[in-house]
Amino acid sequence: MEYRFLGKSGLKVSELSFGSWITIGDQSDFEGAYNLMKEAFDAGINFFDNAEVYSAGKAETLVGKVIKKAGWKRRDLVISTKLFWGGDGPNDRGLSRKRIVEGTNAALQRLQLEYVDLLFCHRPDLYTPVEETVRAMNHIINQGKALYWGTSEWSAIQLREALHIARENSLIPPLMEQPEYNLFCRNRVEVEYKQLYEEMGLGTTTWSPLAGGILTNKYSEGIPDGSRFSLEKYSWLREKRLDTPEGRDKVAKSVKLKKIASQMGVTLPRMAIAWCLKNPNVSSVILGASKPEQLRENLKAPEVLPLLTEDIIKQIEEVVDNKPSGEKDWRL
Ligand code: NDP
Repeated sequence: MEYRFLGKSGLKVSELSFGSWITIGDQSDFEGAYNLMKEAFDAGINFFDNAEVYSAGKAETLVGKVIKKAGWKRRDLVISTKLFWGGDGPNDRGLSRKRIVEGTNAALQRLQLEYVDLLFCHRPDLYTPVEETVRAMNHIINQGKALYWGTSEWSAIQLREALHIARENSLIPPLMEQPEYNLFCRNRVEVEYKQLYEEMGLGTTTWSPLAGGILTNKYSEGIPDGSRFSLEKYSWLREKRLDTPEGRDKVAKSVKLKKIASQMGVTLPRMAIAWCLKNPNVSSVILGASKPEQLRENLKAPEVLPLLTEDIIKQIEEVVDNKPSGEKDWRL
């Protein structure tokens, strides 16, 4: 396993990490979670990604129990959580100071930890002044309950606002973003954040490298039993991500991408994850896996990196047909 610096910080995260969305709590109980996390840890993964909303808190609870049972040293782990959706009450959503303080305390209790390494604002909150959130995150860090803070799916403009507020008030700015990044979703990581990598030393922990499983090609002939998009609880996700013209287009493109991977002598998931790793602005690619054999397969992705030659990348670009063009140069 290779380790990358998280943005400009001195913290190293495994280039492949493990996330607990759906897989821990919904698809697996304690034993399943233990097997998955042990497989990940034994392969050198040090970063485990969580959120208070995952399985309504159950994911964090199980992750906390696994860490306890496995007896891993705290210093060998980078644990995150994300705050935004904490419940149904009037103060249970968003990024107010109250929400952040109470959300952090509740997450730490579930995780049975004194601190998380990374604390993310899971989405932007349009109703809380950014300054309130920046100050609340600083309060949490100063209390020793988190070591670094960041955002997920914030625009570059929102990130810059947080950065400027922090700089003007000598506060700790956000260090990392957690955006979606895969062969079908590229613009934020490749274009929108481009200047922020230099300007603020932004690190990225990217999600859904396999577009929720579509980039395994498992959906080309229907929805396999037990797969994410077959779950009743997540029918909203299937309707949004699979049962749409865009979803069907992704499935069709995955068939073509699988052919390229086969020519290279590798599997499509390995190729798709390696493609994410190729981007030096990605600090860690967060893997999702509902079964240890999926994780074992996906952990082989770094071996594919040297095979992603210019010619292969060109073939991939032709299939996905979504290379961000960046800002138009009106002088040309
Ligand atoms: P992926 O896009 O990689 O999808 C993972 C799912 O694909 C698995 O759970 C499994 O689902 C299927 N799969 C994975 N590997 C294989 C394989 N080799 N063969 C067959 N099927 C496979 O990642 P996720 O969408 O799960 O996202 C990863 C993590 O990112 C999350 O756990 C979470 O921590 C984070 N995340 C963050 C978000 C945010 O807003 N900040 C949003 C979403 C995710 P199945 O077996 O059920 O078919």
